[in-house]
Amino acid sequence: MKLFQRLESMGHEQVMFCQDAQTNLKAIIAIHDTSFGRAMGATRLWSYTNEAEALHDALRLSRAMTYKAACANIPVGGAKGVIIAKPEQKTGALLKSYARFVESLKGRFITGQDVNLSLDDVRLLGSETQYVVGRAPQSGGSAPMTAKGIVEGMKAAVDFLWGTQDLDGLRVAVQGVGNVGKRLCQYLSDNGAEIWVTDLEMEKAREIEHLYGGKVVATEEIYSLEVDVFSPCALGGMLNDSTIPRIKAAIIAGAANNQLEDESIHSQLLRGRNILYCPDYVINSGGLIDVYNELIGYNEDNVLTMLNNISNTLLDIFQMATNEGITTHEAANRIASDRLRTARASLVSSAISPSSKSGVVQNSSPKRRNGLA
Ligand code: NAD
Repeated sequence: MKLFQRLESMGHEQVMFCQDAQTNLKAIIAIHDTSFGRAMGATRLWSYTNEAEALHDALRLSRAMTYKAACANIPVGGAKGVIIAKPEQKTGALLKSYARFVESLKGRFITGQDVNLSLDDVRLLGSETQYVVGRAPQSGGSAPMTAKGIVEGMKAAVDFLWGTQDLDGLRVAVQGVGNVGKRLCQYLSDNGAEIWVTDLEMEKAREIEHLYGGKVVATEEIYSLEVDVFSPCALGGMLNDSTIPRIKAAIIAGAANNQLEDESIHSQLLRGRNILYCPDYVINSGGLIDVYNELIGYNEDNVLTMLNNISNTLLDIFQMATNEGITTHEAANRIASDRLRTARASLVSSAISPSSKSGVVQNSSPKRRNGLA
């Protein structure tokens, strides 16, 4: 594999391979961008079939984090940690060993909870490193704000297509009702939407049926339902050659990272079928917004204002895609790149003139950029 060529083409700064024979730890930390002094990205634990697959996941997810932060106007770069293990191989010793690698990066990488890590696991990481977020005693994790952001994004998409923000009676199919999907179902039900749900663990889906009146369907049935919105909230790669032709929904708006199996091919396929795709890293940025605010001093009003911007950014993306005849994925990438360029230029100019406060970075002081608040 031409590793350095790949890092260069994707724009990565650093990849760290973490190995500890004593605890059986095998992990990869990919740091995409530290223009702002630090990069944020949660850590997932997954039983990858091989090391190349784990590296691919880390590289794609970390780059998406940079774009996610740029679209949310958050002055951090992107990174991602992946631990290669089966959930049953997760031990306290393994997590602590991983956390010591995180600590060794001295704040260039700040991590938190992703797939197969619990809140307790995140707190355990925090016993070995200060560079972990989402572990405050009162923290309920980032899932509730992620789910709120998905609802805001859905409203933007519904508004763009049908000129209303009202979700009452909207038919939504939710794939995966874990931490985020379950909250999403709650908020959708609060807004009067009708929901269909599925999960590999069917008891989770049945709980939603019980709590919010959702209808449970088999895992493969979720794609072909006659609904308005398909909401992928399980794992990545769910939008592919086999699933896209079956989708009848007009909108795709969900939490999963890396929803498009192939970013270019499958975003085109969705556009060709006239399905409005809400780019994953834009619509699911509520979790990053939440943990970033934990870092700078939590203020719920600030979090909610930043969440509202998810809809504004999505509306810009939809409009750009329509005007320029490109996919929403491409439009999101352009907006992210433009915002990054502007934010980096503003960093350079404030380095030259320390009193300068111009640029898109509005809610950080230089002190906050350089270390944990
Ligand atoms: P989770 O592990 O709690 O929930 C995922 C659920 O999906 C599980 O219940 C699992 O059984 C189910 N699932 C897996 N494969 C499935 C399939 N093929 N069909 C149906 N169900 C399936 O994870 P989560 O924290 O809810 O996150 C969900 C997704 O959102 C992940 O891709 C994650 O990376 C992304 N995300 C999460 C956050 C956050 O704040 N937690 C933020 C941004 C993005």
